[in-house]
Amino acid sequence: MRQLKRLVTRLEKKLSENAGQKTSHFHPDCTCFPSDEQPIFSFHVEVEVARNLKCPIHGERFKPNLFVIYKAGWRRFQEFEDDWADHSPQYQKAMRASFPSSLWPPEARWVQGIGTVLTFKDGSSRPAYDDPDAELNRSGAE
Ligand SMILES: [Zn+2]
Repeated sequence: MRQLKRLVTRLEKKLSENAGQKTSHFHPDCTCFPSDEQPIFSFHVEVEVARNLKCPIHGERFKPNLFVIYKAGWRRFQEFEDDWADHSPQYQKAMRASFPSSLWPPEARWVQGIGTVLTFKDGSSRPAYDDPDAELNRSGAE
């Protein structure tokens, strides 16, 4: 019984050491997303903006195969307001670097002939999708 207790103690210690490594292995200037916590975007323009920002240490900040999925408008705003509280500190840092609060989150509205248009906090606007086919699958969702 004593051996089992020691084994459990050693295992707990090892697990807490590993957890510490997982959260603290990023360079202070790194703006990458954690490899096990890749971003999910709502609009193609978000992918473009996030991809254009490079990590000063590593360059590309996330894996090229990622998802653009629908999120309700309230959910997108809530994530910004909560500062991505359900995610790791590194993920939060990567999102903040990608989408500064001076511009994001944008309002999304439907414009006939263009599709979904995002209007940012500075008043500038951009189509949400570069690929018109992407819009076809989502036109009823916004
Ligand atoms: Zn990095």
